[in-house]
Amino acid sequence: MSDFDYDLFVIGAGSGGVRAARTAAAAGARVAVAEDRYLGGTCVNVGCVPKKLYSYAAHFHDAFQDARGFGWRLPEAPVFDWATLRDNKVREITRLNEIYGRLLDSAGVRLIHGRARVVDAHRVEVAGESITAAKILVAVGGWPWVPDFPGRELAVTSNEVFDLAQLPRRFLALGGGYIAVEFASIFNGLGSESHLVYRGELFLRGFDREVREFTREQMAAKGVRLHFEANVERIDKVEGGLLVTLTNGESLEVDAVLAATGRRPHLEGVGLDALDIELNGDGTVKVNERFETSVPSILALGDVIGGPELTPVALAEAMHLVQQHFGDAPPAPMDYRNIATAVFCHPNIGTVGLSEEQARKQYGAIRVYRTDFRPMKHTLSGSEERCLMKLIVADDSDVVVGAHMVGEEAGELIQGVAIAVRAGLTKADFDATVGIHPTGAEEFVTMRTLSRR
Ligand code: NDP
Repeated sequence: MSDFDYDLFVIGAGSGGVRAARTAAAAGARVAVAEDRYLGGTCVNVGCVPKKLYSYAAHFHDAFQDARGFGWRLPEAPVFDWATLRDNKVREITRLNEIYGRLLDSAGVRLIHGRARVVDAHRVEVAGESITAAKILVAVGGWPWVPDFPGRELAVTSNEVFDLAQLPRRFLALGGGYIAVEFASIFNGLGSESHLVYRGELFLRGFDREVREFTREQMAAKGVRLHFEANVERIDKVEGGLLVTLTNGESLEVDAVLAATGRRPHLEGVGLDALDIELNGDGTVKVNERFETSVPSILALGDVIGGPELTPVALAEAMHLVQQHFGDAPPAPMDYRNIATAVFCHPNIGTVGLSEEQARKQYGAIRVYRTDFRPMKHTLSGSEERCLMKLIVADDSDVVVGAHMVGEEAGELIQGVAIAVRAGLTKADFDATVGIHPTGAEEFVTMRTLSRR
């Protein structure tokens, strides 16, 4: 036990911070956490959790239509009530906030409400207290970033979009990353006229090209209006809405603009600059494999260190960090390869491993197996929605190095495939696996025809 007030002081009670605090406490450390906003961080409050709930709400739109082909007659056209969804969401998140509070409490972690500032290598100031700790963990996450253009203050970010006073009749998402495609799909599903404006030629840069193209076709077919090679030049308030002028000369009148143009480390007021803690070129905090910053008693993890900005990554980092600093068996460094991810646009994208383009670069000789088909459900529903599945195989070793899907519940499905890809299984292993019939998932073990090399 150290002479400090605490063994670990965590700044930020988001996914990574809470996990680190609880597991360190379970390992016998004396731990305190400071949080100035909400327990659970971005994911619980203004990210993954409310987004998934809203995505469920939006999927009902298709479900009501699909039901007719199966014999269901809806007595009248379904009506969506935004306030019910929003308020039910608020209730659920309040419940989750309380659970987070109880988890910390039962782990014996002291929770302090306030924004902590690091004053030296072992001291923080928060809520009028000066506290010392052997280690200080910066887990403050990220914050939405909006580019500078006239009228930027008229746009909302993912911090506000869930709580709009009314459902926007016309909605515009700016950006081509996860948040923009997810919200363009959500508002389209909820019945808004939905636009997505992206500066490049095709959204979801970094994902497999074919996945991106397929998603473009599917989202457009569902009614999302896609504007590529365009950016927002300005937003003006006009009677009855917002006038958005685009750089391509187009102008659109909408009721809400969501700026989904990336996130930056939320370091304001944390005091790292005064300690000259080294940052990466993009402003994220530089850490080594032990999550130590350039001041070794100050640690950092999660969105604030860059890398994949995903809750399960922050959780895994927290477990590694605690084992390294408070456990007796230091683990191997965190392995960032083959982290599966899902984009909850409609239809969903699920992906693990390398894209076709990355694999071609890395392995040279590859085999691609792909199929796209109309899922069985839509033979009766009348929906035109299709599903894409794709495996990328390193030719020499036969190892499956990438698996991709666009289709219903792709996130649910790809999680299982991710185990196989992470384990380094071969295409022969996939082929030897007996499928489950009738599912869409069985395509992953029945694709035999080589699509291309
Ligand atoms: P992303 O970094 O994914 O995407 C940002 C988008 O904004 C890119 O398309 C980028 O374009 C564009 N952009 C950047 N600067 C400008 C600019 N000046 N003008 C116009 N467009 C610009 O950020 P998001 O905000 O979508 O999401 C943040 C992160 O949160 C994600 O990266 C992801 O890690 C995480 N997240 C994960 C989810 C999930 O797991 N399902 C869901 C939501 C978020 P370009 O590509 O050309 O650089």
